[in-house]
Amino acid sequence: MAEEFSGKKFSGKTVYNGVTMGKVLVLRKDQEQIRRKRVENPESEIERMQRAAEASKQQLAALYDKAVKEVGESSAAIFEVHQMMLEDEDYLDAICHVIRTEMVNAEYAAAITGDNFAAMFAGMEDEYMQARAADVKDISARLVRNLSGQGSADFSAMEPSVIVADDLSPSETVQMDKKKILAFVTVHGSTNSHTAILARMMNIPALIGVQMDLSEISTGMTAIVDGTAGEVIFEPTEFQCSEAEKKIAGEQEKLRLLQELKGKKNETHDGRTINIYANIGSVSDVGYVLENDAGGIGLFRSEFLYLGREDFPSEEEQFQAYKQVVQMMGQKKVIIRTLDIGADKQADYFGLGKEDNPALGYRAIRICIKQPDIFKTQLRALLRAAVYGNLSIMYPMIISAEEVRQIYAIVAEVEEELKQARIPYRIPEQGIMIETPAAVMISDELAQLVDFFSIGTNDLTQYTLAIDRQNQRLEDFYNPHHKAVLRMIQIVVDNAHKCGKWAGICGELGADMTLTETFVNMGVDELSVAPPMVLKVREKVRAM
Ligand code: PEP
Ligand code: MG
Repeated sequence: MAEEFSGKKFSGKTVYNGVTMGKVLVLRKDQEQIRRKRVENPESEIERMQRAAEASKQQLAALYDKAVKEVGESSAAIFEVHQMMLEDEDYLDAICHVIRTEMVNAEYAAAITGDNFAAMFAGMEDEYMQARAADVKDISARLVRNLSGQGSADFSAMEPSVIVADDLSPSETVQMDKKKILAFVTVHGSTNSHTAILARMMNIPALIGVQMDLSEISTGMTAIVDGTAGEVIFEPTEFQCSEAEKKIAGEQEKLRLLQELKGKKNETHDGRTINIYANIGSVSDVGYVLENDAGGIGLFRSEFLYLGREDFPSEEEQFQAYKQVVQMMGQKKVIIRTLDIGADKQADYFGLGKEDNPALGYRAIRICIKQPDIFKTQLRALLRAAVYGNLSIMYPMIISAEEVRQIYAIVAEVEEELKQARIPYRIPEQGIMIETPAAVMISDELAQLVDFFSIGTNDLTQYTLAIDRQNQRLEDFYNPHHKAVLRMIQIVVDNAHKCGKWAGICGELGADMTLTETFVNMGVDELSVAPPMVLKVREKVRAM
């Protein structure tokens, strides 16, 4: 296989520039392994299933121990529940029954049984039992992974790799150790997805829309990913390797030159300045922020704390995360966005269910207002962490002044509870994201209620142009340079300034250097960009 693949090149759409070379890790979706196959010897399939169940239980026991140490017993309990479910006779008997009667492979039997049990739980009256549907799906998926030799999908054990996949969801990427990712190469995906945003943040090349046949590519192959040329080469020839090495050296030289801008002001020749902050998704990203000399954190996507796990993060866990970030940033501003779950950012334990239009659905602040218990846990953690540094809170997906009032009422309740319990807290600066046309149109009214605006151009473009940002087929139509979007930015900045408030941009457009000059001229006060873009944008501002 490797020989016939030698030097094979595929093109794709660049999400982020840069060149890298390394070993491939192919991530296959569970469904790909679940092909129905006829077997001659069902008893040996049953034995295979029993061995996989045993391995699954051991993994869950290890996960339980790890979680107890990291997040405490109550949050870890879910792993115990999963172990118990894996011992449930009804569930295991049902799998054996499918294998024997239909003479099929164990993967298929486990998957189909998981689906059936999940449907049965979902249809029950009791809310607790309904919530078990996600658990039974989870344990079936684990069983299938173990049956197909994919192990526990434990990303922490992986070598530094070029990740090759059909597509990647935020809950998958969040589980990976970022230091070990050299590049992303996917068949599907969109340049506006959160995986693309992650690649930009990590300064690694990424390609989407690569028309490769994943069954021909295997883990362990070597690949060169050239984000600048928009290509990936598998099993490169010696010549291709030496060309790539030259490009990598050239890039490192450019990076070295940028370092000279550290400590310098973001100031134009005629003395205008703009804040350049950075976007992050986890505590471990603060390193990138400091390395790149950002003036603050303009967007901490807190929902990433909720992804890739089995249950809600506790107040204490969140408090520790927020506190650590503000402490690491010293006096610099840290804007933490409250939970923006939903749409492409899914966590089964929320039990959000399937929606026809998730981007227009039950998400972000809507969940927080409707399920204030979830929101209050986060707010308590934020108010407590605010004592330790320059923390601001930002609310996503706002469409009305009424929502802001509802949020403030919930914040007031949290404040009262903390006061009663004599827990130290501080009410910090509170702002909103402007990412719906509705918010733009009433930004004059909203400006009177909040401390600042941060424009989320990713969603603002999606909702203004009626284009799903995740839809690969619409890439050519998704145009954040559309006059409508740019005019909206101007409206928002003007309305903020009329009220003495500031307005920034934290969507990906903030890092678009063809617009840096336009933004400065519009009076935008802050651009929050992927950390590796900070010095590049600074260079651009200083050249104005
Ligand atoms: C945006 O919509 O521009 C934004 C910054 O938020 P997210 O990309 O996380 O939706
Ligand atoms: Mg958004």
